[in-house]
Amino acid sequence: MKRIFMGIFAVVFALSFLCAFLPKGEAAELDGAWYYRYGDPVMELNGPEGWIQSAMDHDTVWKRFDFPYLPQTGNQHYVWLTTTLRGTDPHADTIFFWTYHESVQVWLDNQVIYEYGTGEPRYLGYGQKWHMVSLPHFRKKVQLTIRVYSDLPLYLAPLRDFRMDEDIVLAQHVFLADIVYAISLPILLLFIFIIGIYYFNQPDRRKLQRDSIIALALIALFSFCECSVKQWFCDWPVLWQHLALICIYLLPIATNQVIYDIVENKYKPLIKHIQHACAVLAVVALCSEVLGFHGLDYGMFGYYLLLLVCQTAVIRTLWQSARGGNPYSYAMFPPCLVLSLLAVFDGMNMNAQWFMGPFYLMPLGAVTLLSFVLVIVKDQLDRERRLESSAIQLEAQAARAVERSEIDPLTGCLNRNAYDKILAHEVKLKDPSFCLVMLDIDHFKLVNDSFGHDAGDQVLRRVTETVREHISHQMKFFRWGGEEFVIYCPQMSRLEAAEVAELLRVAVVDARILPQQPVTISLGVASWHGEQDDLDAMFRRLDSALYRAKRTGRNRVEIE
Ligand code: GH3
Ligand code: MG
Ligand code: MG
Repeated sequence: MKRIFMGIFAVVFALSFLCAFLPKGEAAELDGAWYYRYGDPVMELNGPEGWIQSAMDHDTVWKRFDFPYLPQTGNQHYVWLTTTLRGTDPHADTIFFWTYHESVQVWLDNQVIYEYGTGEPRYLGYGQKWHMVSLPHFRKKVQLTIRVYSDLPLYLAPLRDFRMDEDIVLAQHVFLADIVYAISLPILLLFIFIIGIYYFNQPDRRKLQRDSIIALALIALFSFCECSVKQWFCDWPVLWQHLALICIYLLPIATNQVIYDIVENKYKPLIKHIQHACAVLAVVALCSEVLGFHGLDYGMFGYYLLLLVCQTAVIRTLWQSARGGNPYSYAMFPPCLVLSLLAVFDGMNMNAQWFMGPFYLMPLGAVTLLSFVLVIVKDQLDRERRLESSAIQLEAQAARAVERSEIDPLTGCLNRNAYDKILAHEVKLKDPSFCLVMLDIDHFKLVNDSFGHDAGDQVLRRVTETVREHISHQMKFFRWGGEEFVIYCPQMSRLEAAEVAELLRVAVVDARILPQQPVTISLGVASWHGEQDDLDAMFRRLDSALYRAKRTGRNRVEIE
């Protein structure tokens, strides 16, 4: 297990490292520096055209800055950016950048070449989106001017991840930006599938399985909302961004629900309190978002602070529970730690802009959930193995019970239950041919009366042993009741059965079972008469043959 954890950790950190070194945008094809100007001229007399002209004239109201690090000035909703382009590289004919809650307009000299949004406040904002803008062909220098508007001054940043290149290279970049989701999504779906199978096949522990599936599905949904490739076929930035934010708010509640399910009762109240705190924040954020205050975004500060405090407590609890020997807590500890660390890192990155694109590493943490899924699988396998072995035991017990119900304990002969079963089966066979021999100990009452019941039992045992020694394995030996027995003789004619009966009679006499007086048996023989015959009729013939043997002197064989 430890080795698996170490392996998972290594993979996650290697991937995070790789993501951190994704190629970044360069302004190398640009001619000269970038300039900025806060505010918006819509209210001014000369309008945007005046500002465009002043950019083209390299007016000193435009301040130079070290792209992309724009000096922040409080509560601005608009920023204008400008730079000069040279037409020397005909291949770098497309510009690329991301916007977050921003509306943009792009001018090349005084020509508008691209617009996203109106540059005015909008209910629910503008979402998160990448832009690819094809530049018209030009030879000389041109002035590229961009007006950026944001509903949230907080997020007013210049063109995250700006690059200028061939469109095919930029398309590749979009794919590359999805590397985290391309790794995490299939893994998450696989985990959901595995746990889902147990959910439907194993009713116990359903709650844990259901809650795990919900948590995994939330990470998967978040990954999908964040993946950039889907913008080509469903370009709904506001919807995806809000869904992603809602997932972020719900995730601590959902993952802590899984932890709530697995930890011991004494830890549960703490986890519940943490869930309530997260739920309150989520509800407040969502309500103020609906009211148009961008609560989901502003709430992120509270969210990451809460996450830092709460997840520290949760991780500590998990650690204590794991040390107490809880295998689930032990398996959940690494994913919880990794997911929390990556989530806090993502939060810091979104504010500090370490990576220029909107990169999240948290979904990568899903890989570490393997340890948890493995424990669930192992738990189920153990359970199945236990069930299987108890099923085998039960089967053996049932077989023994059936055997006991068909065997006479005193003589070890089959009893009447077995007689009914075996004979009923036998007559159903095609063309059965068999005989029955019935034997009865002569004057047995006298044995009991003279020597006692125990001696009588002993005689019964000795007689049956003697008989058993002289019959074949195919023959079945039943105790019919008292001191009467029936022998089933398959594939035998009446005469052959009579020979067996005679042999048994002699054997019992020769066995000299009691020294004081001879023990003898009388026997009757009957055969199956074919289709028109039935077992009751056959038994009546058998009984009357035995009766005749008794009447005509005992210690003899009579054939029906
Ligand atoms: P017959 O030669 O006509 O068969 O005479 P019998 O005395 O053998 O026959 P009867 O039917 O009169 O008596 C059978 C006796 O067997 C009566 C009963 O007490 C005895 N008996 C039945 N089952 C057992 C048993 O399990 N143990 C013992 N010790 N005696 C038994
Ligand atoms: Mg008798
Ligand atoms: Mg009898």
